[in-house]
Amino acid sequence: YQRKKILVLGAGYAGLSTVTKLQKLLSVQDADITLINKNEYHYESTWLHETAAGSMNWEDGVYPIAKVLDNMKVRFVPAEVTKINRDEKTVETTQGTFDFDTLVVSLGFESESFGIEGMDDYAETIVNPQTAVRARETIEKNFINYKTSKDKNDLSILVGGAGFTGVEFLGELVETLPVLCKTHGIDYNDVKITCVEAMPSMLPMFSDELTQYAVDFLEARGVEFMLGNPIVAANDKGFVVKINDVETQLEGSSVIWTAGVRGSRLMEESFEGVKRGRIITKPDLTIEGYPHIYAIGDVAAVMNGTGENARPYPTTAQIAMQLGEHTAKNIKLTLNGEKTEPFTYDDKGTVCSLGSGDGIGVVYGREIKGKSAAFMKKVIDTRAVLKIGGLALGVTKGKFL
Ligand code: NAD
Repeated sequence: YQRKKILVLGAGYAGLSTVTKLQKLLSVQDADITLINKNEYHYESTWLHETAAGSMNWEDGVYPIAKVLDNMKVRFVPAEVTKINRDEKTVETTQGTFDFDTLVVSLGFESESFGIEGMDDYAETIVNPQTAVRARETIEKNFINYKTSKDKNDLSILVGGAGFTGVEFLGELVETLPVLCKTHGIDYNDVKITCVEAMPSMLPMFSDELTQYAVDFLEARGVEFMLGNPIVAANDKGFVVKINDVETQLEGSSVIWTAGVRGSRLMEESFEGVKRGRIITKPDLTIEGYPHIYAIGDVAAVMNGTGENARPYPTTAQIAMQLGEHTAKNIKLTLNGEKTEPFTYDDKGTVCSLGSGDGIGVVYGREIKGKSAAFMKKVIDTRAVLKIGGLALGVTKGKFL
């Protein structure tokens, strides 16, 4: 009898939830569990906009992966995955090749610029701690530069996209930039923050009333929205935007692209039928033809509904954690020789923060805004830490202490 080899790729919300649930469900004799992740730490990707705006040090949004693992049951290998050989049942990494009986692919997301000219070269992104820190440093460097250049563009910040990331980032910026201005003796009225969105409306998942609340909040603090204007290029001056079909140059020294994400590029190289790094999964979260390979989190398109009406669930931390726990349960069922179960999503709601003290959201079907939304956001952020790391981690990384 040989212990089954379970290999989990990626320690984001999906991968870490899988492993922490597996170590609860399985005994040492049941399986040989290996977790592979590029960094030795897990980062809270839902807090990155805070780092990018300067309201949180990046170190405060990360914790060592080893801290949440039971090292009797799980082996952690810090390495970068370079290739998945689905038929050979092996995974190549910078630390050697690993074989598996069961594979969980949870490699997360990257920035997607949709081939827009100059975007990868000229815009900052908010996709991992390094890029978030760079975004913050760029803004700060340009503000400092303004003191000698007196070039108004050094105080002009262009944000591409008014999705969740864009709006939450703007919410932090209007809180941190007045402080940055004070530090450097700059008048906040000279700062220009422009958010460019391709669609004629924003945050379609919220009611018009809630969206308007967010727009009013941000506009009152100096943000200018340009809706219905797709960005078609980025260059050393800023964004090129289509206004009434005419290409127009927007100028700003700080340019941040929050308008696109995709699943890991390794997905296209490893599987068929992958779109924007996401593969459609079966209801039990395995992929077609490979009942021992699970795809979860941002690399997966988990369908809600059946047939023509089926739509993928959005890629959020909440769903990623539920996918991870469900995967662990299905792996346990398979080890017991039982049938896997289909995933069902328990939607607890969504909150979009507007800085540390405000926000909008829908929680258990009820609309909330203002302070109660900001409070709920802290509950959600702390819950994610508690769910994966338990009380000990909640005390150090939660948002209430
Ligand atoms: P997104 O894809 O959801 O939003 C991107 C926005 O950019 C869209 O509004 C899109 O219309 C716009 N856009 C795309 N191309 C453009 C162009 N060329 N010019 C101008 N605008 C353009 O990306 P996101 O906000 O990073 O979110 C990614 C995922 O993470 C989503 O599923 C989201 O729900 C989730 N998320 C959730 C939260 C939360 O729950 N609080 C926070 C952040 C992200």
